[in-house]
Order: sequence, then structure tokens, then C-alpha cells
Amino acid sequence: MLWQNPLPSRYTAMSEEELATAIAARKGQLGPDLIILGHHYQQDEVIRFADFTGDSFKLSQLAAERVRESSAQHVVFAGVHFMAESADILTPDEVAVILPDLGAGCSMADMASHDDTLEAWEQITSHLETSGFRGRVIPICYMNCSASIKAFCGQHEGAVCTSSNCQQVFKWALEGGMRRLNTGEQIKILFLPDQHLGRNTAAALGFDIHTDMCLWDPQDSNIQKLGGCKELDIDRSSFILWKGHCSVHKLFRPEHVDQIRAKWPDVNVIVHPECGYEVCQKADQIGSTESIRLAIESADSGSRWAVGTEVHMVNRLARESTKRGVKVRILSDCQCLCTTMYRINMPHLLYVLDQLSEGKVVNRIRVPDEDRRHALAALDRMLTITSQGSQTSGSPIPIN
Ligand code: 13P
Ligand code: SF4
Repeated sequence: MLWQNPLPSRYTAMSEEELATAIAARKGQLGPDLIILGHHYQQDEVIRFADFTGDSFKLSQLAAERVRESSAQHVVFAGVHFMAESADILTPDEVAVILPDLGAGCSMADMASHDDTLEAWEQITSHLETSGFRGRVIPICYMNCSASIKAFCGQHEGAVCTSSNCQQVFKWALEGGMRRLNTGEQIKILFLPDQHLGRNTAAALGFDIHTDMCLWDPQDSNIQKLGGCKELDIDRSSFILWKGHCSVHKLFRPEHVDQIRAKWPDVNVIVHPECGYEVCQKADQIGSTESIRLAIESADSGSRWAVGTEVHMVNRLARESTKRGVKVRILSDCQCLCTTMYRINMPHLLYVLDQLSEGKVVNRIRVPDEDRRHALAALDRMLTITSQGSQTSGSPIPIN
């Protein structure tokens, strides 16, 4: 996590109304020079200032497209660090991507370090070389990881994916990825850092969660070899899943689905694919934040929904859908809050806009050139794979 200096005290002393008025004025003053992107998990006070909202895939596309189409020189990303890094990679050098609070990281992204990834790659590929494996390992990383991991995937003929296109990217890799699949050639996918997205998506493609997947524990790889996996596990698995998870989504439990079904027998349960396998199996639909939004917005009047994702998004959907006679609640009563997203608040937003209005760029997220080049290759592959398929940012992953 990066260090954010405390704000000058005048920002924390301002009332909500003063902050809102000042942010709106600065936005007006900066005009088309500025684009504000807001992830669905942002608090209402912040997201109302976003020019565009979406899931991490939609926002990465928007960053690339809107900057290209407009004269914007500054993108303020109301999201977390890995999202701002991706926006920096996808926009021209001269465009500054700004994260209002540098402490807005992602605990899942922090679960995969570049060094641990290199170590895993070395161990897996050398083991497979000696075991007579006839094929290739393709690294696929979830958007929720550092630019250096994306660069690693780019350098090793892999790709990035998000929660809305993971299935398409897996299919692309299983069909050979960047190279034609030779007869008899096998493919293994090293997927990092979210074991749950990997397991849920591979299971939806028909793979067995016990025999076709194994779990690579980076903590174990330096103590016992092969990340705590047995040689047989590596040999037979099509998916080597990194032992990472989201600390917010892991709070949803299968019993929460049972409890809500007992209370509301007609309920539709929709969850994010970062939830555990058992939760996803009990749900009616699985989807990215954007597809959850679309499902609720198109829900029939009188329907009831329990949503397994971050609380700010669910509360906003609940409030908006009440007007249409649609009842929405969070899947569990535990407050599933993404504390790092929550760091982006009005005082931090105003601070970076004030600085911009004085010609100063603060909190710029800049990916080093070498990482940028290779990470861009991995992100571009994702965008190409997605534009060739039919799945959009809003399509949920079907359940087996
Ligand atoms: P989405 O891509 O669905 O917005 O998910 C990003 C995320 O961090 C969810 O925890
Ligand atoms: Fe990261 Fe989880 Fe927050 Fe998403 S909800 S940004 S995965 S910590």
C-alpha cells in the first residue's frame, strides 16, 4: 500500500455541503480537460461526481476510449490502485491518471507479489519439463493485481481478465492462446491472484474442482516446493490457482443463501464471482458489478433480490430499485465494506482537483515504462479477445 500524506486540515474541517459545492465548481472550471471515473463500490457522495461509472472492465475500456475521443489530459480515478494503474497503461503518456487517496489499494492484489510469481513460474515450468508434460502453461491474471504481474503475463504469452470476461479469456487460452494448438499439446493455466474467480469460472466451463484444479500457496513455495501442491496435482490439473482471495467477498457464506431463501422463498440470489464456490453454487446468478447492476435495473416489479457484493453498491441499488417496486438487500447482515475503496472521499477528491486547478498534478499513478509495455500487451489481448466474443461487461457467468 502506498503512503498518503494527511490532507491540509481545511479539507477535513469543511462540511459535506461545502465540499460538494467546491468539487462541483472545480469540475466546472477544469471542464473537458478532466474525466472522473467511478467504480460501483464508491460511496454515493463521491460517485455522483463521476462522468462514467462501471466495473473494472468497463472503466478500463472507457479510460482508453474517452481519452482518445476527447481532449482530456487528466483522469481522476475514484477506484483503487490497480484500476488507476490499468487506466495509466491504456492512456497516452501525456495523460495523468490520479488516485485521490494513494492508500486505496486492494488486499487481494497485494496477495500476489512479482517475486512470488517468478518463483512459482520457475518451479512449475521446471517440474513440468522433467515430468514429460507435452504442452504449455499460460499465465492469466485477474485485473485485480499489480502492473508488474500483468507485465509478467504479457511477457509470457498470457493475458489479463476481469470478472466479466474471465470465461472468454480462459477459453482463448485453452484453445492455444497466441499460438495454434498442436495435436496432442496440452494447456495449463496459471491463474492469479483470485482462487475463487478462477475456480468458479473453470467449474462453469465443466472442469472438476477436485481433479482439474490445484491451489498454489505462495507462502508455501519457499518452504515446501510446488506451493504446497503434490506433483500429481500439478501434473493432472488444467488450472493452477493462486491462493488469493477478496477479504470482502469471503464474508459471504453458503448459509447466508439458505437463510435468505427461508425468509424470502421467491428470492433471486446474485453474487460476484469473487465469492466462494459453495456460495456461487447456491446462487441463481453470478456476475461482475456491472452485470449485477444491469440485472437489478431490469428486474420485474415485485421481484426480490439478495446481492452478494460490496455494501455501498448494494445499498445504492436497493434505494434506486425501491421506486420500481423491486426489493433488494445485501446477502448477509455483515457489513461487507471495501475499506480501501472507502478511502476515496470528498475531501481527497477536492484536494486533487484544487491542486489541478493550480496546475499541479498530485497523486499521479505512473507505471514504469518496461512494465507498461508488457502489461499493455496483456491488457490489449484481453480487449481483443473480448471484442471478438459476444460476452459484454454486463453478461453474467452461467452456473453449471
Ligand atoms: P468488477 O470488475 O466486477 O467491478 O470487480 C472488481 C472488484 O474489485 C470486485 O471486488
Ligand atoms: Fe479488492 Fe475486494 Fe476491494 Fe475488490 S472488494 S477492490 S477485490 S479488496
